[in-house]
Amino acid sequence: MKNIVIVGGGAAGLAAAITAARAAGGAAQIIIAERLERVGKKLLATGNGRCNLSNARIAPQFYLSQEQKYLEGFLAQMPTKIVTDFFADLGLLCAEREQGRIYPKCNQASMVLDLLLASLRRNNIQVCGDFAVDKISRRRDGFLLTAQDGRTLKADRLLLAAGGKASSALGADGSGFLLAQSLGHSITPLYPALVPIKTANNYFKALKGIRAEVCLHLICEGRELAAESGEVLFTDYGLSGIPALQLSCYLQKGRYQLSLDFFPEISKAALTDLLNQRMAEWGAEPLENFLLGTLAKKIGYMVMKSQDIAPLSRPVGSLSEQELARLAGALKDWRTPVDGTLGFEQAQVTAGGVPLSEVNAHTMQSECCPDLYLCGELLDAVGFCGGYNLHWAFATGILAGQAIGKL
Ligand SMILES: Cc1cc2nc3c(=O)[nH]c(=O)nc-3n(C[C@H](O)[C@H](O)[C@H](O)COP(=O)(O)OP(=O)(O)OC[C@H]3O[C@@H](n4cnc5c(N)ncnc54)[C@H](O)[C@@H]3O)c2cc1C
Repeated sequence: MKNIVIVGGGAAGLAAAITAARAAGGAAQIIIAERLERVGKKLLATGNGRCNLSNARIAPQFYLSQEQKYLEGFLAQMPTKIVTDFFADLGLLCAEREQGRIYPKCNQASMVLDLLLASLRRNNIQVCGDFAVDKISRRRDGFLLTAQDGRTLKADRLLLAAGGKASSALGADGSGFLLAQSLGHSITPLYPALVPIKTANNYFKALKGIRAEVCLHLICEGRELAAESGEVLFTDYGLSGIPALQLSCYLQKGRYQLSLDFFPEISKAALTDLLNQRMAEWGAEPLENFLLGTLAKKIGYMVMKSQDIAPLSRPVGSLSEQELARLAGALKDWRTPVDGTLGFEQAQVTAGGVPLSEVNAHTMQSECCPDLYLCGELLDAVGFCGGYNLHWAFATGILAGQAIGKL
């Protein structure tokens, strides 16, 4: 009987193993080699334990790749249905929630893993835990995998599903990229994505723990790259929250700035009018009350402080026309330089990886090495928050499983 070995028992590897077993129909032994003791550890942590496993709107604009033009061809093979049908077959009821996000109806990531594990057992898939693949040798008749502890496994066909290098405590430590390279693949530059952003900004430090609804703009060399609306969280290192995580996907090498717009729903002129009207009505109040009711008190203080509008005991009526214009400008465009990110350990995903041009979009088969397939986060595609990354992992795993299991 042929051996099909899958390196990595994460989302992609588990979906691939089950699909391959079904496609092989008993004609192959499917083996998962997993470096941790158990498979699926990261899955349990996804979506804050709820597992946002796909999205009803799968389209290239929700993904980034260093070979963006190839994305469309890949995504065309993997509509939402490929993942929801797979889980329906396993017996999982799913529900669509805000912005097309798809979760298990019971909101439990552990339920997703339980069903995947049950299917592994039903399909006689063998799991080799604590098997950290260290080396893969290409043989005339397949591959020989050697683990860190010296154990070996023989594969007629091989699927690399070893993930990226984000959150390594949950399994993937970047070794998959080295294994792919050793088999002839190149790797596009890697960087952490969906990760909090560091800023060199003392005002943010003073706002630690405060949340605000903003439109966050990312600017590079004076050009706006992207903008995201939603709730940001000020921290002692910079900014977290979904808008910051989303914008981190664009941060490679370069000098970046973030701009916070606290009033995205109105123009700067309209905000200036509002402030002027307040000034006319509240002239005798101290400045510390000037922005009451419009945004968190402390944010208002820090924005004024950043514009040298002090002391806050001054009456509102003492604001000069220039001060008022500076304040309206800062409330619409509060700038801060970006000082990197919290790095791979705090990131949800890795951007970069095996170039999409080196992989067949229909089968996930390597264009560089016969009988090799690759899937999941290992590939150079990163999705935004919303279930796009698990969708990519499950869907590429399913496509690879269908192909690798056909003997
Ligand atoms: C905290 C957190 C929350 C997240 N929440 C969501 C969410 O709700 N929705 C969403 O879409 N995405 C989410 N993601 C991202 C998502 O989890 C990943 O994109 C997805 O798990 C990638 O799947 P994968 O199978 O390619 O890699 P992984 O899930 O990382 O699995 C790779 C597996 O390979 C194993 N492995 C690695 N190297 C070797 C080796 N050399 N030998 C043997 N085994 C090896 C690892 O131990 C691991 O089990 C989240 C990520 C994190 C960290």
